[in-house]
Amino acid sequence: MSASDQELGLSRPVASPIYPSTVYSLPDLDALDRINDGHDAGYNYARDKHPNAAALASQVATMHDAEWGVIAASGMGAISATLLSLLKSGDHVVASDQVYGGTMQLLRQQLPRFGVTTTWVDCNDLAAVEKALRTPTQMLFVETISNPLVRVCDLKRLADMAGSRDAKLIVDNTFATPLLCKPLSLGADVVIESMTKLMGGHSDATLGGAFGKDPKIGDNLTVAVSRWGMNASPFDCWLATRSLATLELRVRASNHNAAELARWLEIHPKRTPIHYPGLPSHPDYKYATSQFGHEPGNMLSIELDCGRDAVNAFMRRGTGIPFAPSLGGTVTTCSYPAGTSHKFVDKAEKDRLGITEGLIRISVGVEPLKEIFRNMESKL
Ligand SMILES: *Cc1c(COP(=O)(O)O)cnc(C)c1O
Repeated sequence: MSASDQELGLSRPVASPIYPSTVYSLPDLDALDRINDGHDAGYNYARDKHPNAAALASQVATMHDAEWGVIAASGMGAISATLLSLLKSGDHVVASDQVYGGTMQLLRQQLPRFGVTTTWVDCNDLAAVEKALRTPTQMLFVETISNPLVRVCDLKRLADMAGSRDAKLIVDNTFATPLLCKPLSLGADVVIESMTKLMGGHSDATLGGAFGKDPKIGDNLTVAVSRWGMNASPFDCWLATRSLATLELRVRASNHNAAELARWLEIHPKRTPIHYPGLPSHPDYKYATSQFGHEPGNMLSIELDCGRDAVNAFMRRGTGIPFAPSLGGTVTTCSYPAGTSHKFVDKAEKDRLGITEGLIRISVGVEPLKEIFRNMESKL
């Protein structure tokens, strides 16, 4: 019986404990070997493995019908570990030109130093993807729902196209969460979640994870996280585990609110153009409704027609929807892609991607709908 078992007597905690220990004591050398060989459960050094990351990894892996899960210190940590463990010098990546700004910068600014090149494509243009994949390609990297124009990919088709060329399909599922979409079941090799966003959901933990079925990929990713030091802290993992208890409630409420806000904005006298895949006017409405079978997410974008000044006025005016460049918390927030996630992208490319000077991205929270309408009215 361990010391903590003695302190607890016959009782057991209902809430899960936090194990901040950086190191674990072991009875002898044989026990260490049995743990390292995988014959027995146990821990040794927290950078390699600790109980709070293990609990979170297994919870989210179950949600994705995955065989393994690896937790990292951030969404970018999970993406970096995936790229670093699957790619080598001379490899070629095909990536969606609408991926998260951090991912875009990683592939553009960091990976070329390691001899990895990227071709950017519009993933909604399957002929363009097919053409890019003709260059020998090791990885196709896409997002289930893109940022900030909330485009939705046909993941099944992309998985077939990548598979027929022996390229691994990596899907960043952050905007969807496993409640809307399980990319592994559509043929993806690795699914990534930034749990800093909806899964953590309370704007208080920075965390990410990668999940998959092929154990070899999982083993390599586990080693990458430890060697490159991308491991997450026990406290953040514990917060995320706590958040998962309400994930379904939060996703259902925020997605319902987003769909209602989109409809409200569509008939609002201000006639602000709006991007939301649950509106029939959105170009991917048909994938979104067939692929998710649910209101397609809590994210939408609106376009103010007078550019930066109008955006600043929108941010200063009214109450209740703070300018906070992240997403997926309980509170409705707004962000400005041209000045945050896509600040480094030049003007011509922003125009091509549709990231205009007046584009504002809204992360809809779980407040009562009436409050969201009132707050939005105060800002328009
Ligand atoms: C935020 C985000 C990331 C990066 O996650 P961090 O936890 O901030 O590192 C990756 N992909 C998408 C789609 C995101 O929104």
